[in-house]
Amino acid sequence: MDKIVLSGLKPEEIENLTKQIDDSKYRAQQISNWVYLKSVSSIDDMTNLSLKFREQLKNIATVTHTKIKRKQVSKDGTIKYLVEFADGQCVETVLMRFDNRANLTACVSSQVGCAVNCSFCATGKSGFVRNLTPSEIVEQVLTIQRDTGLKVTNVVFMGQGEPLLNLDNVLDAINILNTCCQISLRRITVSTSGIAKNVEKFALANSQSTLAWSLHAPTDEIRNKIMPINKKYSISEMVSALQNYIKITNNRITIEYLLIDKITDTFECAKNLAELLKKVKCNINLIPYNPVVENDYKKPSKSSIMKFKYILEHSGKKVTVRLERGADIDAACGQLRGKIAT
Ligand code: SAH
Ligand code: SF4
Repeated sequence: MDKIVLSGLKPEEIENLTKQIDDSKYRAQQISNWVYLKSVSSIDDMTNLSLKFREQLKNIATVTHTKIKRKQVSKDGTIKYLVEFADGQCVETVLMRFDNRANLTACVSSQVGCAVNCSFCATGKSGFVRNLTPSEIVEQVLTIQRDTGLKVTNVVFMGQGEPLLNLDNVLDAINILNTCCQISLRRITVSTSGIAKNVEKFALANSQSTLAWSLHAPTDEIRNKIMPINKKYSISEMVSALQNYIKITNNRITIEYLLIDKITDTFECAKNLAELLKKVKCNINLIPYNPVVENDYKKPSKSSIMKFKYILEHSGKKVTVRLERGADIDAACGQLRGKIAT
């Protein structure tokens, strides 16, 4: 019989399991704390359980099958893990620390590969393989906690995959991260390329986390060229879906905007973007393009980043420029491949 994997189980599921051994109620909570908060990797480490109970539990359960296949540390402190699941499939997970903040942010993947295939992103290049289960999404956070001995405080769904195309599992994972790992919903951000049909479901299920939209171009003409998903869900369709999201949740959304030299960083793009977002309750996060070998795009110049930012700020928006993290180990946005480069 295959052993039951504890990470990914909800407290009531752990309780059903421990009932097979004895019926003391508090065991499930103790085990949940060991798995999700103290992040042990073995039942032997659950030292407040009796030796006899641990032996019995070991007969039917194990903490995890997930392994770290590779770990790389950037000179800026960012750590990239290649995480391997029971069937041998791998994804990348990135841990970012920001100076002078106590936050530890995990950037997690939601799918192996990605079917959306944006022209600027390494993940989409080898196609879609499969969805991750809720447990496999949570395992990425636990892997970081087990390896570093530290507690993750923030989670961004900005690794490999399109979270809104694996929405049920992403929602389940968020629930476990919140209730078991004690990560506040407000510290969780889900980034989507723009799957308009699933935005309302996300809003109704989780009104507290932040939704970020990878807009990246202010007109359908430019967006069609760099993001094939735009042919399915146009900019105006997504804007209506987001207006509905804002009405349901009362949240401000985040607009992610990729600056690619001479393609999306022009004065005209900035003017059009400011006009497009005039009536949308949002903050804007500008992402300077990170080089990926599969295409010929170039990084924007420092001055075009500053000009772009100025024009948007002048239109009354709060604008930030995303710091490049871990580029020396290919851990920056868009550089995740999920395998060891050959
Ligand atoms: N699939 C989701 C989330 C993962 S990607 C989405 O697309 O939103 C996280 C962010 O990195 C997205 O905004 C994505 O467009 C951006 N990105 C992809 N490739 C990039 C690159 N080469 N340089 C900078 N950002 C990139
Ligand atoms: Fe998929 Fe996001 Fe990469 Fe586009 S940017 S290919 S949606 S992971």
